[in-house]
Amino acid sequence: MKRLAVLIALALACVLAAGPAPRPVSGPVALVRIPKGPVSPTAVLASLGIDVRQELATCLLALADRTDLDLLRRRGVRFTVLDRNAARREFLVVGTGRPGDFESLRAAGRAVAVEPGTAVFWTDAGSPAESVPAGLPRKALPPRSVLPYIRPRPAAIPSGAAAAAQDPFVETIVALVSSANLAAGVQTLQDFQTRYAATTNCDAAAESLYSAFTALGLDEVRFEPFTYSGGRTSRNVVAEKTGETYPDDIYILCSHYDSISPAATRETLAPGADDNASGTAAVLEAARVLAPFPTDFTVRFVAFSAEEWGLYGSRAHAFAARTAGERILGVINLDMIGYANTVPEDLEYIVNEDSAWLAELFLAAGGHYAALAGRKTVDASIIYSDHSPFWDQGYPALLAIEDYPLNNPYYHQTSDTLDKLNSGFFTGATRASVGLLAELAQPVRDGYPRTPAGLAAAAVVYSSLFNSLRAIQLTWSTQPDATGYNVYRTEFSHLSYAKLNDAPLAAAVFVDETTAADQTYYYVVTAVGSTGLESNRSRELEVAANSGTAAALALTPLLLRGPR
Ligand SMILES: [Zn+2]
Repeated sequence: MKRLAVLIALALACVLAAGPAPRPVSGPVALVRIPKGPVSPTAVLASLGIDVRQELATCLLALADRTDLDLLRRRGVRFTVLDRNAARREFLVVGTGRPGDFESLRAAGRAVAVEPGTAVFWTDAGSPAESVPAGLPRKALPPRSVLPYIRPRPAAIPSGAAAAAQDPFVETIVALVSSANLAAGVQTLQDFQTRYAATTNCDAAAESLYSAFTALGLDEVRFEPFTYSGGRTSRNVVAEKTGETYPDDIYILCSHYDSISPAATRETLAPGADDNASGTAAVLEAARVLAPFPTDFTVRFVAFSAEEWGLYGSRAHAFAARTAGERILGVINLDMIGYANTVPEDLEYIVNEDSAWLAELFLAAGGHYAALAGRKTVDASIIYSDHSPFWDQGYPALLAIEDYPLNNPYYHQTSDTLDKLNSGFFTGATRASVGLLAELAQPVRDGYPRTPAGLAAAAVVYSSLFNSLRAIQLTWSTQPDATGYNVYRTEFSHLSYAKLNDAPLAAAVFVDETTAADQTYYYVVTAVGSTGLESNRSRELEVAANSGTAAALALTPLLLRGPR
């Protein structure tokens, strides 16, 4: 047997990049556009402490005072000033993808194009959210810098990475989804006449959702009040089912329940059946069918308000979650999943690069549980729904939508009613969503060993007289009902896990000696029971094999043990 000296290093979990200390504002604050260019400017911007408020596909939008602008110039960072008087202004990013959109926006206030199909909008007086022409999607800038949460570009996902089999237990849950319930859920919301966020009807719809979630026997239902657009208030409705193994690790299924129609009618009539009673009825139905099944991870169901004003409800939720240090592992946002302009209709999955794994899993779930075709689009500029504020706070999030660009002639009209929806497509989209959510949350099954917890990594270096070998040592908590364990690894978060051990491991420890420098790995472990049944997977652990890189998990040598 080799005699080895073992250097043990401990992993420091999730050290957030601490930016430079804030300094006093000098001079007027400008809103600037910084092109991304061939080399990402984020590292330089972070070193300068620049207040970046929006990432788009081709550029960043930032607030910068006179000192910041000097620093940018001196470091050779290109930028253009969009507005020189940005200190107390409310800016909206507005989608101007169709012919004439930009012209109608410019007629309503101050507008500057920042990339094709995207403009920044503000008004010299009053609320810009109320001035944006009906039909143009809009988003308020997040309340603080998003720069700490812009991660380096992950490796491109190979095709077929999510080719796991259909899970029969998940199928039994999915089979509980009822088309009649979905239609009734849309009808109930439509019957409020309008759910425009400034109306008492919208508030009444929130009360009704609160009651509906409460009736399902979940662990917690609460209102989440927030302010928006010049001191207005509205409420999200948040319902939660606590995880058995990982109560602090959360998957979110969400939608917005507020609605909008042209300015002349929105206070009295905005039925919003497709946009977005459809997504909200699906969230409620998902909560109903999942409620009786204990899951490993916590599942949070959220109905957001004031989405149509500029994503204010989800902005408040995502901001509060990050501020509280919540571990949100993934967000599935359903917005317009009931209208089919062609049959069969497919579902679009909009993601940023960090969230692409969610789209891969959704594509697979659509095939496994709904015979639903889908299409994945990776585009950081598609920000006009409630997934986007989660991107701003560094959480993986996906938008599921019937078409992008939209193909619904009733969109934001008083004619967006239940009779226009396609029940088969709506039900299929809901089934796929429930299938994906159940796969992520992992139902706890009778007769199976419990899911392992406490997975941790340490860097180890084996040294002999002639060489040294760097490896990753994994440990986890022992599970009383396990007779062995399996360890899986992938280079693509949540996808393509490959088992590293041959026979099940007897002890709760494994050393992975096949790691490459500069590679990030994702590990999970499972427990194997006496009859050979395998548990659900543990929470995924991200490990940068090469210590000292700027990954979320840093490996730092802590103590040295002599030869044993
Ligand atoms: Zn919507």
